[in-house]
Order: sequence, then C-alpha cells, then structure tokens
Amino acid sequence: MNNELKNKDRIAIPRVKMPELAPDYRSRCYEEVQQGLTAEQALTEAQRCLNCPKPTCMEGCPVGIQIPKFIKLTEQNRINEAAAVLKETSSLPAVCGRVCPQEKQCESRCIYHKLNKEPVAIGYLERYVADNASPQSPVQIGDGCPSGRSEIKIAVVGSGPAGLSFAGDMAKRGYDVTVFEALHEIGGVLKYGIPEFRLPNRIVDVEIENLKAAGVKFVTNCIIGKTLSQDDLQQSGFQGIFIGSGAGLPNFMNIEGENLSGVLSSNEYLTRVNLMGANRPDADTPVMYGKRIAVIGGGNTAMDAVRTARRLGAEQAMIVYRRSEEEMPARLEEIHHAKEEGVIFMNLYNPIRYLGDEKGRVRQMVLQKMELGEPDASGRRSPKAIPNAIETIDIDVAIVAIGVSPNPIIPQAFQGLQVSNRGTIVVNQDNLQTALPHIYAGGDIVRGGATVILAMGDGKKAAAAMDEQLTQRKSNE
Ligand SMILES: Cc1cc2nc3c(=O)[nH]c(=O)nc-3n(C[C@H](O)[C@H](O)[C@H](O)COP(=O)(O)OP(=O)(O)OC[C@H]3O[C@@H](n4cnc5c(N)ncnc54)[C@H](O)[C@@H]3O)c2cc1C
Repeated sequence: MNNELKNKDRIAIPRVKMPELAPDYRSRCYEEVQQGLTAEQALTEAQRCLNCPKPTCMEGCPVGIQIPKFIKLTEQNRINEAAAVLKETSSLPAVCGRVCPQEKQCESRCIYHKLNKEPVAIGYLERYVADNASPQSPVQIGDGCPSGRSEIKIAVVGSGPAGLSFAGDMAKRGYDVTVFEALHEIGGVLKYGIPEFRLPNRIVDVEIENLKAAGVKFVTNCIIGKTLSQDDLQQSGFQGIFIGSGAGLPNFMNIEGENLSGVLSSNEYLTRVNLMGANRPDADTPVMYGKRIAVIGGGNTAMDAVRTARRLGAEQAMIVYRRSEEEMPARLEEIHHAKEEGVIFMNLYNPIRYLGDEKGRVRQMVLQKMELGEPDASGRRSPKAIPNAIETIDIDVAIVAIGVSPNPIIPQAFQGLQVSNRGTIVVNQDNLQTALPHIYAGGDIVRGGATVILAMGDGKKAAAAMDEQLTQRKSNE
C-alpha cells in the first residue's frame, strides 16, 4: 500500500514512542511498564525501514533474523507472515522483543545512525508482530519427519531459553523430548529472574504451552545430578542430552559483614518474589522489606532488583555501582525506567564493609569513592579507589547483583565433561558438542552470564547438530 513512499519520506518519519504506564503508578504495581505499539504506530514505524540491499541490522542479530523482510511484511499489515519470518530463526520472539538489548545489537547497526537519526525500532516491531499474530497451530511430532525419530528419547536439562529453544527444535524434527527442570516452574530466568513488569509470565506461558502441544514433556522439581543421575538418564534410554542449566550461582564480593542478615543476592531476592510469592502478605517466609535498600551492581539484574525493591515500598531504592553510568552493562531502557521510578543512582561508589546491629542485622554500608582509570580487559574504564574518600550510609537491606557463575551441579555430576576454570562446560564451538559425544550444551552454562537470544541461538544450533549426528548414526545402522 505504501510502495509509492520514497526513501526521503520514510526518513522524515520520527521514531515511534512506546506507550508506557506513568512512573508514579507503575512503581507501585507489577503491571507491564511498556504497553506495546498500537497497530497504527507499528505500521508507521515499519515504513521507516529503508529495506537496505545489504541490511547491516541483520549482522547485529545473534540469530540472523530476516529483519527487513519481517518489517516489510509488517508495513503491509501481513502480520502472520511477518511472525512466520521471525519464527524461522527465533523461537521466542515475544520474549526477545521485550528483553533483547536491541540498542547494542540489531538497532546499533541500523543505517539511520549514519543519517544521524534514531534507528528503526526493530525490537518494538518484533514484539508487536509476536503479540498480534494469530496463534500458530501446534507442531505435530513426526509431521513430515523421517520415521523412527519418535522412538528416540532426548533429555534436556534446564527449561531456560536455551533448553526451551532446543526442545522446540527437536520436537519439530520429530524426537521424543523431555525437559527436566530443578525448580517447580518452567522458564528459567524468564520466570525466576526477570520480573513481570518487564516480561509478564503469560508471554512465557504461551511458548511453554506451544511446546507442550508439540509433544514436549516437562518434569519439574527434578535436579539432574541429584534427583536423577547421568546413569539414570542413560538407563532410561535417552540417546541425546542437551545441557542448558544456566548460570544461577550468585557471586559475592567477600567483604566484611556480607553474612549479616539483610545482605542477600539478587538471585535470591528476585526468585523469592517472582516465583515463591514472598511478597504476599500471607507468605510463610516473607521477603526482606526495608525503607533504604541498596542494590550493588549495574547490570540488568541490578535494575530488576532495585525496581522490585521500589515496588515493595523502599523509599530509598539505590543503585551502588563502582563505575560511571556510561559503563553500566544494563539496558539503557532499564536505566531510564529505573530513574523515572525514583531509583537513586550512586555511581563511582564501591562497598567495602557492612556494619550490623547487635541482632546481626545489616544497618550501614561503608563505601569507597571511586574514579575512572584506563580501560580494562572489558574495554570499559576501570574503577580506581580515591585515597581516603570513604563514606558510610544507613541501609536496611543490601542486594548483591555483581554477576553470576555457572551452576556447578552438572559439571560436577557428569563424568567426562570438560569444564573451564570459570566453571563453564567446554564445547566444540562449531556444533556445541561436549567432550561426551551424545551430550551437547549451550546458553549460560557454556557462556557464563550472557543473554536470552544467545541462549536461544545455542539451543537451535545444538538441535541441528544433534539431529545430524543421530540421523547419521541411524543411517549407519
Ligand atoms: C534478573 C535477570 C535479568 C536479565 N535480563 C536480561 C535481559 O533483559 N535481556 C537478556 O537478553 N538477558 C537477560 N538476562 C540474562 C538471561 O536471562 C540469561 O542469559 C538466559 O536466561 C540464559 O538462558 P539459559 O537457558 O542458559 O539459562 P537459565 O535461564 O538460567 O535457565 C537454566 C535453567 O536450568 C535449571 N537447572 C539448573 N541446574 C539444573 C539441574 N541440575 N537439573 C535441572 N534443571 C537445572 C535452572 O533452574 C533454570 O531454570 C537476565 C538475567 C537475570 C538473572
């Protein structure tokens, strides 16, 4: 309908603004902050895409989504076809449209930057398409697949984005897939980490229901390596195993007072609120409330924790970060939303000690003032202590969000896996096969803490490789 639009007209269209709940209202509730584009907004934003012959945006997408193609279909209001393009490469577009760091990926490579204009809102459009397409009919196990696959049992350890994407791709290929999850809920960080105000559970549940409809079985409350061993899986006839057990082990700073009551990890805080209902008035083990809550760190997890603290009534919800805002790894959008919601940013401060009261409850935090030095291995300017610049502030709760390490259970329990000194499982980068030929691994257990889209991409890659291996084995029989 807009074939006649010239590039100069497309370029003249301003980038769309996502409708959002007002900060005052949303900082007291769990409703999703970003409300999604209207149809009119989405179609207009799609017109901005110049359909570049060499789309650099695609180079910025870890799974290579056909970005101009899905946007062109969106512009033509062919939403189901646009969704089909997304689904070719991304198993969870409604999730990625919400949580992918597009500003560092696809949108950072948009041609509009060269024109000194804001990039096309690729993430917003992805979300619009995923949310507004008609539900797809569930994939039938064995549909169009070589016979015999439905007798091949495949186990998946962990139900985060890596495991879900692997499971979906193997089910599509006709295998008999079972996902084992340690927690009582399916979804990994998508459920236990990222709060509902950023990623509603219903969005994740749609994807889980699709997988169930495709025949994927889920076993919850089952810790592989404890409840069931590597041998148990093999004796149950699982011929291939994909490990997507994530990086759920919180790091601490190992400073004085860190074991005081009221100092906890962001993982514990978020899991207890998101998954255990610890913020409900009738909770058996209620979450730690406080008026002055300090969250240590500058990543997405820190922002999720501090914004949760604000919603749970903290009058002073503070981010304490040892570098400046420019170096923060969190998504820009999250930093912006946190500020709008009244979060206080104490940049260039590093905690060196916690002080408690006679009951062992944290009461104060001693902070070292920092300045920025030369860039370090991460490419970011490194924080340096300013001599004698020490401050002490009152706090009721400290939440430590300084990164995570791989879950050690699988690396310890599976004999024969190669494990790096960081605790990650070592894989062949070409096909994600581990040192054990029938076991593949991907997501955070291989990368350390990374992103949803990278975890999903790993699940897809491992599924393709395992399928090839099993198919070859079958043809040799
Ligand atoms: C609070 C928070 C916010 C984040 N925000 C973003 C964001 O905005 N954008 C983004 O791209 N990324 C974000 N990330 C990172 C992203 O969520 C992860 O990189 C991604 O979830 C990794 O996926 P995964 O499948 O490898 O692992 P996970 O999502 O961690 O899933 C692993 C699953 O395996 C289960 N498991 C572990 N061990 C076993 C076992 N032995 N047996 C059975 N099950 C087991 C765990 O319980 C878990 O459910 C965030 C992370 C956190 C913690």
